Amino acid sequence: MDDIERQMQFVFALRSHGITNADVLKAMESVPRKDFLEGIFEERSHEDTPLPISCGQTISQPSVVALMTQALDLNRRCKVLEIGTGSGYQAAILARLARRVYTIERHRRLARRSKELLHRLGLHNITVVHGDGSLGLPEQVPFDRIIVTAAAEDPPQILLDQLRPGGIMVLPVGQSHSVQTLIKVSKTEHGLEYTELGPVRFVPLVEGIAHDVLD
Ligand code: SAH
Repeated sequence: MDDIERQMQFVFALRSHGITNADVLKAMESVPRKDFLEGIFEERSHEDTPLPISCGQTISQPSVVALMTQALDLNRRCKVLEIGTGSGYQAAILARLARRVYTIERHRRLARRSKELLHRLGLHNITVVHGDGSLGLPEQVPFDRIIVTAAAEDPPQILLDQLRPGGIMVLPVGQSHSVQTLIKVSKTEHGLEYTELGPVRFVPLVEGIAHDVLD
């Protein structure tokens, strides 16, 4: 299969998962997932499956990245917070559609690598922070959108408080080692509204900064 066929299949997989937003599809097409992978996994970048990255973490499945991005309903005025930078792939997609992206990662190595990569790709509206994302980013509140790419048992109250009224938060909730549910939380004048988007499987949201031997 050549690159063009692979790319067509990639977009087809997204469409078949209900991704209809043209801007989201364009952003997904324009960011090379391969660049966010290493070694033998680079060859598998077009597969609609999660793949391993360093520090025992995973890059999400493209259709889930697209689904979460679509649910955020982004526009060029949005200031977005992402918890769980990982490879930086989701952050790159967000940066194509929003004004400003802040992304927090608890593993220093992942934060450093994705910062370098995103810079190399010319995405200058992203700030990568090495820290504990379960605390959010108080110095930049409020956020128009928040996306959590690691699973918590419930939507963290600290993060809900950092969301602007009218804002949207998308995150997986549920037990860390079983299937979780992707939810969209809208902060309206009447309170919080929850929409279920389907089953997903993410690595757990872990409190505190990681202390890796390899740092
Ligand atoms: N969005 C990523 C997928 C990341 S996997 C991508 O596109 O590649 C989830 C990431 O969340 C992991 O890298 C993990 O280290 C990170 N994480 C888990 N708990 C965290 C926390 N409290 N603060 C910041 N990052 C966290």
